[in-house]
Amino acid sequence: MEFKAVRGVEDLIPPESEKFEKVVETFKNVVNKAGFREVILPIFEEAGLFSRSVGETTDIVQKEMYVFEDKGGRVIALRPEGTASAVRAYIEHGVFAKEPFTKWFYVGPMFRFERPQAGRKRQFFQAGCEVFGLSSPGADAEVIKVACDILKALKIDYSLELNSIGCEKCRSEYKRALIEFLESRKEKLCEDCIKRFERNPLRVLDCKVETCQNIVAEAPKITDFLCNECSEHFEKLKEYLALLDVKFVENPFLVRGLDYYTKTVFEFKSKKLGAQSTILAGGRYDKLVSQLGGPETPALGFAMGVDRAMLLLPEIEEKREGIFLVTRGEKAYKEGLKLLRLLREKGFRVEIDHRQGSFKAQMKAADRVKAKYVVIIGESEVEEGFFSFKELETGKQERVENIEALIARF
Ligand SMILES: [Zn+2]
Ligand SMILES: [Zn+2]
Repeated sequence: MEFKAVRGVEDLIPPESEKFEKVVETFKNVVNKAGFREVILPIFEEAGLFSRSVGETTDIVQKEMYVFEDKGGRVIALRPEGTASAVRAYIEHGVFAKEPFTKWFYVGPMFRFERPQAGRKRQFFQAGCEVFGLSSPGADAEVIKVACDILKALKIDYSLELNSIGCEKCRSEYKRALIEFLESRKEKLCEDCIKRFERNPLRVLDCKVETCQNIVAEAPKITDFLCNECSEHFEKLKEYLALLDVKFVENPFLVRGLDYYTKTVFEFKSKKLGAQSTILAGGRYDKLVSQLGGPETPALGFAMGVDRAMLLLPEIEEKREGIFLVTRGEKAYKEGLKLLRLLREKGFRVEIDHRQGSFKAQMKAADRVKAKYVVIIGESEVEEGFFSFKELETGKQERVENIEALIARF
Protein backbone atom coordinates (compact mmCIF):
# COMPACT_ATOMS: atom_id res chain seq x y z
CA MET A 1 0.00 0.00 0.00
CA GLU A 2 1.39 3.38 -1.01
CA PHE A 3 -0.09 5.59 1.71
CA LYS A 4 -0.36 4.83 5.37
CA ALA A 5 -1.17 7.02 8.36
CA VAL A 6 1.96 8.86 9.52
CA ARG A 7 3.91 7.10 12.29
CA GLY A 8 2.43 7.79 15.72
CA VAL A 9 -0.86 9.00 14.27
CA GLU A 10 -3.85 6.68 14.28
CA ASP A 11 -7.24 6.40 12.68
CA LEU A 12 -10.15 5.65 14.95
CA ILE A 13 -12.55 3.38 13.11
CA PRO A 14 -15.64 1.81 14.72
CA PRO A 15 -15.92 0.57 17.42
CA GLU A 16 -12.86 2.58 18.61
CA SER A 17 -14.45 5.84 17.43
CA GLU A 18 -17.50 5.00 19.55
CA LYS A 19 -15.30 4.48 22.59
CA PHE A 20 -13.77 7.89 21.88
CA GLU A 21 -17.23 9.44 21.70
CA LYS A 22 -18.20 7.78 24.95
CA VAL A 23 -15.17 9.17 26.81
CA VAL A 24 -15.73 12.68 25.46
CA GLU A 25 -19.47 12.59 26.12
CA THR A 26 -18.98 11.40 29.69
CA PHE A 27 -16.36 14.10 30.27
CA LYS A 28 -18.72 16.78 28.92
CA ASN A 29 -21.63 15.55 31.04
CA VAL A 30 -19.64 15.78 34.25
CA VAL A 31 -17.99 19.15 33.59
CA ASN A 32 -21.26 20.69 32.40
CA LYS A 33 -22.82 19.83 35.73
CA ALA A 34 -19.94 21.63 37.44
CA GLY A 35 -20.59 24.78 35.41
CA PHE A 36 -17.77 24.57 32.84
CA ARG A 37 -18.44 25.97 29.35
CA GLU A 38 -16.71 24.91 26.15
CA VAL A 39 -13.98 26.85 24.35
CA ILE A 40 -12.93 25.79 20.89
CA LEU A 41 -9.31 26.74 20.38
CA PRO A 42 -6.99 26.67 17.36
CA ILE A 43 -4.78 23.65 16.75
CA PHE A 44 -1.74 25.80 15.93
CA GLU A 45 -0.33 28.89 17.56
CA GLU A 46 2.79 31.02 17.39
CA ALA A 47 5.55 28.75 18.71
CA GLY A 48 6.63 31.45 21.17
CA LEU A 49 3.40 31.00 23.14
CA PHE A 50 4.50 27.53 24.20
CA SER A 51 8.16 28.28 24.92
CA ARG A 52 7.00 31.20 27.08
CA SER A 53 4.36 29.18 28.99
CA VAL A 54 5.24 25.49 28.96
CA GLY A 55 8.88 26.46 29.46
CA GLU A 56 12.01 26.84 27.37
CA THR A 57 13.85 24.04 29.22
CA THR A 58 11.07 21.44 29.12
CA ASP A 59 11.24 18.33 26.95
CA ILE A 60 8.00 19.39 25.31
CA VAL A 61 9.46 22.60 23.94
CA GLN A 62 13.01 21.40 23.36
CA LYS A 63 12.37 18.03 21.76
CA GLU A 64 8.73 17.30 21.12
CA MET A 65 7.05 20.25 19.49
CA TYR A 66 6.07 20.23 15.82
CA VAL A 67 7.39 23.61 14.67
CA PHE A 68 7.31 24.98 11.14
CA GLU A 69 7.44 28.23 9.27
CA ASP A 70 4.24 29.11 7.43
CA LYS A 71 4.12 30.86 4.06
CA GLY A 72 3.96 34.23 5.82
CA GLY A 73 7.23 33.53 7.59
CA ARG A 74 5.61 33.03 11.03
CA VAL A 75 7.05 30.37 13.30
CA ILE A 76 4.11 28.13 14.09
CA ALA A 77 3.73 25.17 16.44
CA LEU A 78 1.08 22.48 16.52
CA ARG A 79 -0.19 22.75 20.07
CA PRO A 80 1.48 20.26 22.43
CA GLU A 81 -1.10 20.95 25.17
CA GLY A 82 -4.23 23.03 25.73
CA THR A 83 -3.62 25.38 28.64
CA ALA A 84 -1.40 27.91 26.84
CA SER A 85 -4.05 28.49 24.15
CA ALA A 86 -6.81 28.79 26.76
CA VAL A 87 -4.82 31.42 28.65
CA ARG A 88 -4.00 33.26 25.43
CA ALA A 89 -7.69 33.33 24.50
CA TYR A 90 -8.72 34.40 28.01
CA ILE A 91 -6.41 37.42 27.77
CA GLU A 92 -7.05 38.21 24.11
CA HIS A 93 -10.82 38.43 24.62
CA GLY A 94 -10.56 40.44 27.83
CA VAL A 95 -12.57 37.81 29.69
CA PHE A 96 -10.89 38.85 32.96
CA ALA A 97 -12.66 42.23 32.74
CA LYS A 98 -16.09 40.69 32.13
CA GLU A 99 -16.26 37.80 34.59
CA PRO A 100 -15.12 37.58 38.22
CA PHE A 101 -14.25 33.95 37.58
CA THR A 102 -14.33 31.77 34.49
CA LYS A 103 -14.69 28.02 34.03
CA TRP A 104 -13.80 26.61 30.62
CA PHE A 105 -13.35 23.19 29.11
CA TYR A 106 -11.90 22.05 25.80
CA VAL A 107 -11.53 18.83 23.85
CA GLY A 108 -9.19 18.29 20.94
CA PRO A 109 -6.04 16.85 19.40
CA MET A 110 -2.57 17.74 20.68
CA PHE A 111 0.76 16.98 19.01
CA ARG A 112 4.09 15.85 20.39
CA PHE A 113 6.98 14.21 18.59
CA GLU A 114 7.65 11.33 20.98
CA ARG A 115 8.51 7.68 20.56
CA PRO A 116 5.11 6.09 19.89
CA GLN A 117 3.97 3.32 22.24
CA ALA A 118 0.79 2.11 23.90
CA GLY A 119 -1.02 5.16 25.27
CA ARG A 120 1.41 7.57 23.61
CA LYS A 121 0.76 8.84 20.14
CA ARG A 122 2.10 11.80 18.24
CA GLN A 123 -1.42 13.04 17.73
CA PHE A 124 -3.34 12.44 20.91
CA PHE A 125 -6.53 13.84 22.37
CA GLN A 126 -6.99 15.77 25.55
CA ALA A 127 -10.09 16.88 27.37
CA GLY A 128 -9.28 19.62 29.85
CA CYS A 129 -10.72 22.15 32.26
CA GLU A 130 -9.39 25.58 33.22
CA VAL A 131 -10.56 27.90 36.00
CA PHE A 132 -9.52 31.56 36.02
CA GLY A 133 -9.88 34.15 38.79
CA LEU A 134 -10.04 31.92 41.87
CA SER A 135 -7.18 31.75 44.38
CA SER A 136 -8.95 29.81 47.14
CA PRO A 137 -7.82 26.24 47.87
CA GLY A 138 -11.52 25.40 47.66
CA ALA A 139 -11.27 25.88 43.90
CA ASP A 140 -8.37 23.38 43.78
CA ALA A 141 -10.44 20.93 45.78
CA GLU A 142 -13.45 21.28 43.51
CA VAL A 143 -11.39 20.92 40.33
CA ILE A 144 -9.80 17.74 41.69
CA LYS A 145 -13.24 16.45 42.68
CA VAL A 146 -14.53 17.08 39.15
CA ALA A 147 -11.59 15.04 37.82
CA CYS A 148 -12.51 12.20 40.22
CA ASP A 149 -16.11 12.34 39.05
CA ILE A 150 -15.08 12.06 35.39
CA LEU A 151 -13.00 8.93 36.02
CA LYS A 152 -15.71 7.47 38.23
CA ALA A 153 -18.33 8.07 35.53
CA LEU A 154 -16.01 6.25 33.09
CA LYS A 155 -15.67 3.38 35.61
CA ILE A 156 -11.88 3.80 35.59
CA ASP A 157 -9.87 2.83 38.71
CA TYR A 158 -7.19 5.33 39.68
CA SER A 159 -4.90 6.54 42.41
CA LEU A 160 -4.49 10.27 43.02
CA GLU A 161 -1.10 11.80 43.83
CA LEU A 162 -0.96 15.29 45.27
CA ASN A 163 1.81 17.79 45.95
CA SER A 164 2.46 21.48 46.36
CA ILE A 165 5.42 22.93 44.52
CA GLY A 166 5.06 26.31 46.21
CA CYS A 167 5.35 29.80 44.78
CA GLU A 168 8.33 31.68 43.32
CA LYS A 169 9.43 32.63 46.83
CA CYS A 170 9.61 29.21 48.43
CA ARG A 171 10.61 27.44 45.26
CA SER A 172 13.78 29.47 44.74
CA GLU A 173 14.97 28.42 48.19
CA TYR A 174 14.13 24.82 47.42
CA LYS A 175 15.88 24.98 44.06
CA ARG A 176 19.06 26.14 45.78
CA ALA A 177 18.92 23.22 48.21
CA LEU A 178 18.15 20.80 45.38
CA ILE A 179 21.02 22.04 43.20
CA GLU A 180 23.38 21.66 46.14
CA PHE A 181 22.15 18.10 46.70
CA LEU A 182 22.39 17.19 42.99
CA GLU A 183 25.82 18.77 42.68
CA SER A 184 27.14 16.21 45.18
CA ARG A 185 25.74 13.34 43.06
CA LYS A 186 26.34 14.84 39.67
CA GLU A 187 28.34 11.94 38.25
CA LYS A 188 25.42 9.54 38.74
CA LEU A 189 22.88 11.66 36.88
CA CYS A 190 21.87 10.92 33.29
CA GLU A 191 23.21 13.08 30.47
CA ASP A 192 20.05 15.18 30.14
CA CYS A 193 19.93 15.85 33.85
CA ILE A 194 23.58 16.92 34.02
CA LYS A 195 22.81 19.43 31.30
CA ARG A 196 19.67 20.84 32.87
CA PHE A 197 19.96 20.51 36.62
CA GLU A 198 21.54 23.91 37.19
CA ARG A 199 19.07 25.75 34.99
CA ASN A 200 16.02 23.85 36.10
CA PRO A 201 16.70 21.28 38.84
CA LEU A 202 12.98 20.42 39.14
CA ARG A 203 13.21 18.65 35.76
CA VAL A 204 15.46 16.04 37.42
CA LEU A 205 12.59 15.15 39.77
CA ASP A 206 10.48 13.82 36.91
CA CYS A 207 13.34 12.27 34.93
CA LYS A 208 12.30 8.73 33.98
CA VAL A 209 15.86 7.29 34.05
CA GLU A 210 16.18 4.80 36.91
CA THR A 211 19.51 6.05 38.29
CA CYS A 212 18.09 9.56 38.44
CA GLN A 213 14.95 8.30 40.19
CA ASN A 214 17.11 6.57 42.82
CA ILE A 215 18.92 9.82 43.52
CA VAL A 216 15.65 11.76 43.63
CA ALA A 217 14.27 9.42 46.31
CA GLU A 218 16.83 10.86 48.73
CA ALA A 219 16.54 14.48 47.60
CA PRO A 220 15.21 17.26 49.82
CA LYS A 221 11.42 17.61 49.68
CA ILE A 222 9.76 20.78 48.47
CA THR A 223 7.03 20.48 51.09
CA ASP A 224 9.69 21.18 53.76
CA PHE A 225 10.44 24.52 52.06
CA LEU A 226 6.92 25.93 51.60
CA CYS A 227 6.33 29.50 52.78
CA ASN A 228 3.44 30.22 55.17
CA GLU A 229 1.00 31.12 52.43
CA CYS A 230 1.77 28.05 50.32
CA SER A 231 1.75 25.70 53.26
CA GLU A 232 -1.59 27.08 54.49
CA HIS A 233 -3.03 26.70 50.99
CA PHE A 234 -1.89 23.07 50.88
CA GLU A 235 -3.28 22.26 54.34
CA LYS A 236 -6.66 23.84 53.51
CA LEU A 237 -6.78 21.94 50.23
CA LYS A 238 -6.26 18.62 52.01
CA GLU A 239 -8.97 19.55 54.52
CA TYR A 240 -11.44 20.41 51.73
CA LEU A 241 -10.59 17.25 49.78
CA ALA A 242 -11.48 15.20 52.83
CA LEU A 243 -14.85 17.00 53.01
CA LEU A 244 -15.45 16.11 49.37
CA ASP A 245 -14.49 12.50 50.13
CA VAL A 246 -11.48 12.55 47.78
CA LYS A 247 -8.76 10.03 48.65
CA PHE A 248 -5.17 10.89 47.73
CA VAL A 249 -1.54 10.15 48.51
CA GLU A 250 1.06 12.87 48.92
CA ASN A 251 4.03 12.58 46.59
CA PRO A 252 6.65 15.22 47.49
CA PHE A 253 8.52 14.62 44.22
CA LEU A 254 5.60 15.18 41.92
CA VAL A 255 6.41 18.30 39.85
CA ARG A 256 4.81 17.73 36.41
CA GLY A 257 6.76 18.29 33.21
CA LEU A 258 5.69 21.90 32.67
CA ASP A 259 7.16 25.07 34.10
CA TYR A 260 4.02 27.08 34.73
CA TYR A 261 2.69 25.33 37.81
CA THR A 262 2.54 26.97 41.25
CA LYS A 263 1.32 25.50 44.53
CA THR A 264 -1.01 22.56 43.82
CA VAL A 265 -0.06 19.80 41.37
CA PHE A 266 -1.82 16.45 40.99
CA GLU A 267 -1.78 13.32 38.89
CA PHE A 268 -4.32 10.56 38.48
CA LYS A 269 -2.62 7.27 37.65
CA SER A 270 -3.71 3.80 36.66
CA LYS A 271 -1.62 0.68 37.25
CA LYS A 272 -3.18 -0.89 34.17
CA LEU A 273 -1.45 1.58 31.84
CA GLY A 274 2.13 0.43 32.43
CA ALA A 275 4.87 3.00 31.79
CA GLN A 276 2.51 5.73 30.63
CA SER A 277 0.49 5.52 33.83
CA THR A 278 -0.84 9.08 34.04
CA ILE A 279 -4.38 9.40 32.81
CA LEU A 280 -5.26 12.89 34.06
CA ALA A 281 -3.08 15.61 35.53
CA GLY A 282 -3.06 19.27 36.36
CA GLY A 283 -2.44 21.96 38.89
CA ARG A 284 -2.48 25.63 39.72
CA TYR A 285 -0.71 28.20 37.53
CA ASP A 286 -1.15 31.55 39.24
CA LYS A 287 1.58 33.34 37.27
CA LEU A 288 0.80 32.20 33.75
CA VAL A 289 -1.86 34.79 32.86
CA SER A 290 0.40 37.69 33.82
CA GLN A 291 3.40 35.99 32.24
CA LEU A 292 1.54 35.96 28.93
CA GLY A 293 0.62 39.63 29.17
CA GLY A 294 -2.67 39.58 31.12
CA PRO A 295 -3.40 40.97 34.58
CA GLU A 296 -2.36 38.99 37.68
CA THR A 297 -4.99 36.23 37.67
CA PRO A 298 -4.92 33.06 39.74
CA ALA A 299 -5.79 30.00 37.66
CA LEU A 300 -5.77 26.23 37.67
CA GLY A 301 -6.82 23.28 35.57
CA PHE A 302 -6.22 19.76 34.36
CA ALA A 303 -6.19 17.67 31.21
CA MET A 304 -7.22 14.07 30.69
CA GLY A 305 -5.68 11.82 28.06
CA VAL A 306 -8.65 10.65 26.02
CA ASP A 307 -6.64 7.89 24.28
CA ARG A 308 -5.47 6.53 27.63
CA ALA A 309 -8.98 6.69 29.06
CA MET A 310 -10.10 4.65 26.05
CA LEU A 311 -7.52 1.96 26.89
CA LEU A 312 -8.97 1.73 30.40
CA LEU A 313 -12.63 1.84 29.46
CA PRO A 314 -14.44 -1.38 30.32
CA GLU A 315 -15.59 -3.17 27.16
CA ILE A 316 -18.79 -1.60 25.95
CA GLU A 317 -21.55 -4.14 25.79
CA GLU A 318 -23.08 -3.67 22.39
CA LYS A 319 -26.81 -3.52 22.84
CA ARG A 320 -29.16 -4.66 20.12
CA GLU A 321 -30.93 -1.67 18.72
CA GLY A 322 -33.21 -0.72 15.84
CA ILE A 323 -34.92 -2.47 12.98
CA PHE A 324 -33.53 -4.31 9.96
CA LEU A 325 -35.69 -4.81 6.90
CA VAL A 326 -35.31 -8.10 5.02
CA THR A 327 -37.03 -8.26 1.65
CA ARG A 328 -37.54 -10.82 -1.07
CA GLY A 329 -38.09 -9.68 -4.67
CA GLU A 330 -38.30 -6.23 -6.23
CA LYS A 331 -41.90 -5.63 -5.13
CA ALA A 332 -41.07 -6.42 -1.53
CA TYR A 333 -37.91 -4.28 -1.73
CA LYS A 334 -40.02 -1.30 -2.83
CA GLU A 335 -42.40 -1.88 0.07
CA GLY A 336 -39.32 -2.05 2.25
CA LEU A 337 -38.09 1.35 1.05
CA LYS A 338 -41.49 2.87 1.87
CA LEU A 339 -41.44 1.29 5.29
CA LEU A 340 -37.86 2.53 5.82
CA ARG A 341 -38.95 6.10 5.14
CA LEU A 342 -41.96 5.84 7.40
CA LEU A 343 -40.11 4.30 10.32
CA ARG A 344 -37.26 6.82 10.10
CA GLU A 345 -39.83 9.64 10.16
CA LYS A 346 -41.14 8.10 13.37
CA GLY A 347 -37.62 8.38 14.78
CA PHE A 348 -36.58 4.70 14.65
CA ARG A 349 -33.14 3.46 13.69
CA VAL A 350 -33.81 1.46 10.52
CA GLU A 351 -31.65 -0.27 7.94
CA ILE A 352 -32.46 -2.20 4.80
CA ASP A 353 -30.33 -4.70 2.89
CA HIS A 354 -29.85 -3.20 -0.57
CA ARG A 355 -28.04 -6.28 -1.85
CA GLN A 356 -31.35 -8.17 -2.03
CA GLY A 357 -29.42 -11.38 -1.50
CA SER A 358 -30.61 -14.62 0.03
CA PHE A 359 -32.80 -14.64 3.09
CA LYS A 360 -29.94 -16.19 5.06
CA ALA A 361 -27.42 -13.52 3.99
CA GLN A 362 -29.82 -10.76 4.96
CA MET A 363 -30.54 -12.29 8.38
CA LYS A 364 -26.79 -12.54 8.93
CA ALA A 365 -26.42 -8.85 8.09
CA ALA A 366 -29.17 -8.00 10.57
CA ASP A 367 -27.26 -9.87 13.25
CA ARG A 368 -23.95 -8.21 12.34
CA VAL A 369 -25.38 -4.69 12.71
CA LYS A 370 -26.86 -5.75 16.06
CA ALA A 371 -30.45 -5.01 15.09
CA LYS A 372 -33.05 -5.70 17.75
CA TYR A 373 -35.88 -6.51 15.34
CA VAL A 374 -36.17 -7.84 11.81
CA VAL A 375 -39.15 -7.14 9.62
CA ILE A 376 -39.50 -9.68 6.81
CA ILE A 377 -41.29 -8.63 3.67
CA GLY A 378 -41.74 -11.48 1.24
CA GLU A 379 -44.03 -12.17 -1.72
CA SER A 380 -46.97 -13.32 0.35
CA GLU A 381 -46.49 -10.43 2.75
CA VAL A 382 -46.76 -7.95 -0.15
CA GLU A 383 -49.79 -9.68 -1.65
CA GLU A 384 -51.71 -10.00 1.58
CA GLY A 385 -50.42 -6.76 3.19
CA PHE A 386 -49.10 -8.21 6.43
CA PHE A 387 -45.58 -8.22 7.96
CA SER A 388 -43.50 -10.89 9.59
CA PHE A 389 -41.82 -9.54 12.65
CA LYS A 390 -38.95 -11.18 14.51
CA GLU A 391 -37.16 -10.29 17.73
CA LEU A 392 -33.54 -11.39 17.21
CA GLU A 393 -32.66 -11.92 20.86
CA THR A 394 -35.49 -14.37 21.54
CA GLY A 395 -35.99 -15.61 17.98
CA LYS A 396 -39.70 -15.11 18.47
CA GLN A 397 -41.49 -14.53 15.18
CA GLU A 398 -45.04 -13.34 14.62
CA ARG A 399 -47.37 -12.02 12.00
CA VAL A 400 -48.47 -8.38 12.20
CA GLU A 401 -51.51 -7.31 10.23
CA ASN A 402 -50.65 -3.73 9.26
CA ILE A 403 -48.14 -0.87 9.67
CA GLU A 404 -49.90 0.65 12.69
CA ALA A 405 -49.79 -2.65 14.51
CA LEU A 406 -46.15 -3.07 13.47
CA ILE A 407 -45.09 0.32 14.83
CA ALA A 408 -46.88 -0.47 18.07
CA ARG A 409 -44.49 -3.44 18.47
CA PHE A 410 -41.32 -1.31 18.68
ZN1 LIG B 1 5.30 29.98 48.71
ZN1 LIG C 1 17.94 12.02 34.45
